[in-house]
Amino acid sequence: MPEQSLRSVDDHLATVLDGIGTIDPIELTLLDAQGLLLAENVVSPVPLPGFDNAGADGYAVRAIDVRDAADGNPVVLPVVGDVVAGVKASAGMGPGLAMRIATGAPMPVGADAVVPLDGTDGGVARVAIHQAVLSGESVRRTGEDLRAGQPALGAGAALGPQQIALLAALGRDRVSVRPRPRVIIVSTGSELVEVGHKPSFGEVTDANSYLLSAAARDAGAEAYRVGIVHDDHTQLLDRLESQLLRADILITTGGVSRGAFDVVKQALSEIGTVDFADVAMRPGMPQGFGHLGDRVPIFCLPGNPVSALVSFEAFARPAIRKLLGKRQIHRATVLAVALERVESPGGLREFRRGVLHREADGTYSVSLVGGAGSHLVASMASSNCLVVIDEDVTEVVAGTRVTVMPLLLSNR
Ligand code: AMP
Ligand code: MG
Repeated sequence: MPEQSLRSVDDHLATVLDGIGTIDPIELTLLDAQGLLLAENVVSPVPLPGFDNAGADGYAVRAIDVRDAADGNPVVLPVVGDVVAGVKASAGMGPGLAMRIATGAPMPVGADAVVPLDGTDGGVARVAIHQAVLSGESVRRTGEDLRAGQPALGAGAALGPQQIALLAALGRDRVSVRPRPRVIIVSTGSELVEVGHKPSFGEVTDANSYLLSAAARDAGAEAYRVGIVHDDHTQLLDRLESQLLRADILITTGGVSRGAFDVVKQALSEIGTVDFADVAMRPGMPQGFGHLGDRVPIFCLPGNPVSALVSFEAFARPAIRKLLGKRQIHRATVLAVALERVESPGGLREFRRGVLHREADGTYSVSLVGGAGSHLVASMASSNCLVVIDEDVTEVVAGTRVTVMPLLLSNR
């Protein structure tokens, strides 16, 4: 095939990303919102802390009453009560007195500092204080963390445990977020059987719908496997049609080559909104991308499992990340020393499976697993990265550095 007829990986990715719109925000409960991006500006309805409270276990006092306290010169004050966390009303306290107080308990009116237990004899009826404190010491002031009416979190903030804690502290149990895209996955091929059904001779167990569901979830999507479709126009179009309503992205695998039975390419080409191109990459050359129904993006990926994974990584994963609103839609790459010589075809971007090692000095090295064959599911399972060999490189010399994309599991 002449190289000129190929579309570059970068061009195809640009076409894909151009074709990805946005999803309307939805309200989710806090824990369902974990890992997503906030779609609203949250203003604090309350001050944090909500009331002046003790910053230590000890005795609430007036600082002025204990200004002369020191080791060897204790000031003794009567203890007129206990304040524990959760009391509904703040106590009042006159001059020359102390109250025993627990961390987080409301400061008694009249007290302006807390002497921590260590600075006292721990007395119950009377307390000997041998540490002077300044006014305000060991007191957490109302609104010192966040005042009522202040911005708490802005739209676009990523909701990790810290941000979820703040929302909870503000009393928010639901927030508006960019939702997880719903990704529908359809495996095509008349040879395919569902996992758990013993394949007869010539039949192949559908691995791709699991591969891509796992990959889509890892990218942050909700994945829906909708089973196997045989190489049959009507069955394929019916299945896709029936899924359109709930889909943010459709992904098919198989049937996109030039063969007589490559039904996905034939059936969807006729509709006219899905474009099939040969992309300058290995594996994964035949790619389909376009829209169905009300502009639902559809990826038609090749059927070999390694091709499906590489195609997903190259095109579908960045699309899902874009829909999530992530700033960083591409996987990070590292440079690693190649432990062996690798030959690669010129004019194609090659993605080989590798095992990436982090050396003691923090540098990386990489070795290949499996061959270039895109049917090698078992060796793919022993890899933890893709080795990316650029279009203009035909040989990677052992000991030189090569680009590697670690396939780290994301924390969803
Ligand atoms: P195709 O792209 O349809 O020509 O398929 C290419 C190769 O990948 C064939 O050997 C298929 O049997 C295999 N294949 C296609 N779909 C799947 C799948 N869902 N799971 C495992 N292997 C598949
Ligand atoms: Mg097929």
